[in-house]
Amino acid sequence: MMFDTIAAISTPRGEGGIGIVRLSGDKAIEILGKIFKPKSQKKVEDIKSYTINYGHIYDKDILVDEVLVSVMKGPNTYTREDIVEINCHGGYLITEKVLELVLKNGCKIAEPGEFTRRAFLNGRLDLTQAEAVIDLIHGKTEKSISLSLNNLRGDLKEQIAHLKKILLDVAAHVNVVLDYPEEGVDEPMPDNLVRDLHNVHDTITKLVESYDKGKMIKEGIKTAIVGKPNVGKSSLLNSILREERAIVTSIAGTTRDTIEEIINIKGIPLVMVDTAGIRETQDEVENIGVQKSKKVLQEADLVLFVMDSSRELSEEDKEIYENIQSEKVIGILNKIDIERKLDITSLTKVKKWIEISALENIGIENLENEIYNFILSENIEDSSEKLIITNIRHKSALEKTKQAIENIFETMDMGYPMDLIAVDLNDAMDSLSEVTGEISSEDLLDHIFSNFCVGK
Ligand code: GDP
Repeated sequence: MMFDTIAAISTPRGEGGIGIVRLSGDKAIEILGKIFKPKSQKKVEDIKSYTINYGHIYDKDILVDEVLVSVMKGPNTYTREDIVEINCHGGYLITEKVLELVLKNGCKIAEPGEFTRRAFLNGRLDLTQAEAVIDLIHGKTEKSISLSLNNLRGDLKEQIAHLKKILLDVAAHVNVVLDYPEEGVDEPMPDNLVRDLHNVHDTITKLVESYDKGKMIKEGIKTAIVGKPNVGKSSLLNSILREERAIVTSIAGTTRDTIEEIINIKGIPLVMVDTAGIRETQDEVENIGVQKSKKVLQEADLVLFVMDSSRELSEEDKEIYENIQSEKVIGILNKIDIERKLDITSLTKVKKWIEISALENIGIENLENEIYNFILSENIEDSSEKLIITNIRHKSALEKTKQAIENIFETMDMGYPMDLIAVDLNDAMDSLSEVTGEISSEDLLDHIFSNFCVGK
């Protein structure tokens, strides 16, 4: 199959020793040839497959970075296409510059999950890798792909096995006591085992809590544009689309009747919530109103709160403002091309205001930078170190484990007998086994496979 040649930054965004820009497609090597000068003076098209090549990236005559470039010719590659990986030695800004350069020279920015999707489409992965593959295909960011690969490698599995072993040790003690009551059925649980239980509980709590972050990385940043009618929400959306030259994908939303649009802001996908309503209608009545905004506000990871700077603060503005959570909002003062009437001094919850004119395309890039910084600093930076769960099924099972352990604590506090503890311990271990799939029911399998849809 023939596809466009795509490119993306494959390493986590943030500070790091190297950043990798990866290209895949039949023009990968040709495009590399336009920007890379190998130290060896070799022509890029003569570089041997599976070699790493030292040299420099140039934007015309301007030196951009000192790099190592891996060249891998298809079909024995991750995607089965020609793959080029540029190891940039500069920080992430330079890595982005290199990405920009390859885009300028003919690459298309990779859609979320597109490399893996190609590996799948080109027949490199088979059905046995199904659950992992579907996660990778659904991955909307390079970051989410790396999380899925951690899980493929077995990080979560190992962690679960470790926790289960601790619970088994506790269970061994409990069973001895139950089998030989003279060993002390009325004695409290030994301190070291209680400590172990608390450790397991803490670890599981952290895993459960990691889900929100994991979900965001996996599914994109849910972004809502809110504001009363006529402040310029749809104009803003259109401005961003223009700026990004409409790298926009419409996908069926999680609920059947909504369309979610994904906008790549500097390579990070924003899933725009409820833009169908904003975009399709000029009718004020149908524009996002206060009621609708409330719901959207709760669900969003990022809220763009748009105000008309040429009008005074109104009750409607205030009502929307009241419903905004301070930590996830960027305030936007639109229509700065006309006379300012708005006073925002009372709106202290909004920490950051960006002045724009959606109509005249002023301040849009600044706004995009702000969005990018919001996502980088808030959510993604250090996540590569930690175990993050991204699967709702894992989360529910871990919540059951957590609950069962809390029941044990309660039983111990109340001084109830060991056999009650045994029941909850078994529940805790069973739900851990659900995560790894050691215990699975028909229903569960049905559920997993219902996540496949036609054509995926
Ligand atoms: P929405 O109801 O919030 O989606 O607002 P629209 O995007 O439909 O814009 C409402 C009106 O404001 C339209 O007539 C736009 O042309 C106008 N408008 C939007 N942005 C600007 C701006 O930056 N400056 C000026 N002067 N007018 C704008």
